[in-house]
Amino acid sequence: MASCSTGKRRFPTETLALEALLEAHALYHYKAGQGPQTVYTCEICGDFHFTSRGPAHPKLQEAIASGDLARMQRANEWKSRLK
Ligand SMILES: [Zn+2]
Repeated sequence: MASCSTGKRRFPTETLALEALLEAHALYHYKAGQGPQTVYTCEICGDFHFTSRGPAHPKLQEAIASGDLARMQRANEWKSRLK
């Protein structure tokens, strides 16, 4: 896949971009309001990129509020211990 002049990682669909966004939060334990907050359609390449500018995507807010994100973070901790 050709890279975009923004230098950002490209995702062909919003769903894939959101999955990767949640995964990034599960892996890196960002503090509240830090890290990528949502995804947007790029005017240059037409694919989706992360942005750290809020407001946070509803799916991300939901994952935080429901505890799903915390569960994913714990799962990733276990995975790294088993390596
Ligand atoms: Zn782009």
